[in-house]
Amino acid sequence: MKKIINILSKEVINQIAAGEVIQRPASIVKELIENSIDAQAKNIEVIIKDAGKKLVQIIDDGTGMTPDDATICFHKHATSKIQKTIDIMHILTMGFRGEALASIASIADVELKTKTDDDKIGTLINIDNSKIKKNKKITTPTGTSISVKNLFFNIPARKNFLKSDKIEMKHILESFIQLSISHYQIGFKLINNGKVIYNLSATNLKQRIIQLFGKRYNEKILPIKEKTSIVSIDGFLGNPLDARKTRGEQFLYVNNRFIKSSYLNHAIKNAMMNIITPDQHPSYFIFLTINPSTIDVNIHPNKTEVKFEDEKAIYQILKSTCKKSIGMYNITPSLDFSIEETFEIPVEIQKTLPREPKLKINKNFNPFHEDDFQAKKNTELMHQLFVNEEKNNINNIMNIDGNYALFTLIINSKQVLNLMDKKRSMQRVVYEKTIRLLKNKKKESQKLIQPFEITLNSLDIELLKEHRNTIQSLGYNINDITKKSCLVNALPAGLDSLNLKELFDHLLEELKNNNDDIKEKLIDTIAIKEAYNISNKINSFNMSNNDSLKAFINTLLDCKMPFIGIHGKPCVINIEPNLFFN
Ligand code: ADP
Ligand code: MG
Repeated sequence: MKKIINILSKEVINQIAAGEVIQRPASIVKELIENSIDAQAKNIEVIIKDAGKKLVQIIDDGTGMTPDDATICFHKHATSKIQKTIDIMHILTMGFRGEALASIASIADVELKTKTDDDKIGTLINIDNSKIKKNKKITTPTGTSISVKNLFFNIPARKNFLKSDKIEMKHILESFIQLSISHYQIGFKLINNGKVIYNLSATNLKQRIIQLFGKRYNEKILPIKEKTSIVSIDGFLGNPLDARKTRGEQFLYVNNRFIKSSYLNHAIKNAMMNIITPDQHPSYFIFLTINPSTIDVNIHPNKTEVKFEDEKAIYQILKSTCKKSIGMYNITPSLDFSIEETFEIPVEIQKTLPREPKLKINKNFNPFHEDDFQAKKNTELMHQLFVNEEKNNINNIMNIDGNYALFTLIINSKQVLNLMDKKRSMQRVVYEKTIRLLKNKKKESQKLIQPFEITLNSLDIELLKEHRNTIQSLGYNINDITKKSCLVNALPAGLDSLNLKELFDHLLEELKNNNDDIKEKLIDTIAIKEAYNISNKINSFNMSNNDSLKAFINTLLDCKMPFIGIHGKPCVINIEPNLFFN
């Protein structure tokens, strides 16, 4: 029989392996920048031609290589960064597999110029198809320059697989931006077809974010910081009010490596529940530092996923850290005209484009008519709501109509004019008050004179039985559970929830999407419902004279998040004159 099994040649093996590491020009940019970072470069210049299909060149002022190292660095598994297996657990450098240069050399023409500080003269090496074609002495500054041309010349299938220049350039920008954020202390320059796209001087993290994404990050960025035994968290959150409809500036790093994690992204988004709408995506630049032995080290160079041992704990810590920062830095919506940019048009980043103001006027406000009894009850409610002594510097109150009022506030010793949406503000006040009430350990129940019967289907009954204790712990008393109904005979004291059937439908809905924070979710659902109930009666509250408005504004300012409505839209906007008259 004819022999059919062959051993692949070393060349082919290398090319196959190269496909794993180098998938597109952006992979070369990433690998070479990482090498420059590992070589302690202070400045890194990236030169691109035709989206990297023609040229990728990286020039650094790092340690450089000795003539000997320069000849062996293109060998597979040539690395100066790891000596024993045990080291893998404690890697601090970006690369360690000793594969990148060998891979690149097997699929492209490479020219290396390098010199160390100790050497007087440098080395030039030309590689063609993994073979050294030229190796000579040259004069070159300390550091390393690597040019990669003719990518995939020997693997046409891969070459054809490359996407349009625009898409390949987008990938290059992504890699460049990811690395330049985490290495803000290094100067970076990116030149594409002779045009300077970025010229980033060494700086701090916040300024690097501004260098990359524009001045709108100047003020509206919230620092986050937390240190626990499991994880340390550092970085910035974009202003939740600037959250976008498209996923944009989301940068998460673990031990200074960029990662993608939809799970942790969810934690951040969850922290902004009721500040952003579900279809908005917050920006963030977050750095997690974790003991390397508790994560699955990212052995594969192209994988950005990471497995954590304490995934759930990290989720919770990240969420509460973000929440704390949002609460600490009072976010104020303002009539500013921020720029919105995407990866595709970084050159334009410095330009400020006018945008429409964020507050939309609700012209269809539907007043709610109340009978006498209800009006009286509302006055009582109002008294409960706004019992606030004067402590904020509120002036120049001016009622506009049933929906809006103006007032000034002293913020940072400057008078700031504010426009308030009464209904949204009322929702915010009631929402926070209800959460406080339901979280209060000493909360009381209020018996209903007439128990309220709720009919439910058998599945809902089962769910209700299962979670009865949780619901009761909030102050609802549930009795006489039959196959299709139950009786509610007490409510949390101080709550107005009238439509119990609707409320229980909502609660059961939450229970169906069962998750970890079920009690918190239930409290949130009740608070939202309560906020709606009361704000629908806003016209029966006296909210037009200056005294009652002042009391109300004081109450609002006492909230944790006074300026943002419960669905993420502003309830008060600042009108800063310097934004308009500059
Ligand atoms: P790794 O980064 O995994 O070690 P590479 O193939 O990327 O493997 O690089 C091989 C070796 O070449 C590195 O370990 C390093 O010693 C050397 N090297 C590569 N790039 C540079 C550079 N820009 N400056 C100095 N040395 C470099
Ligand atoms: Mg490397």
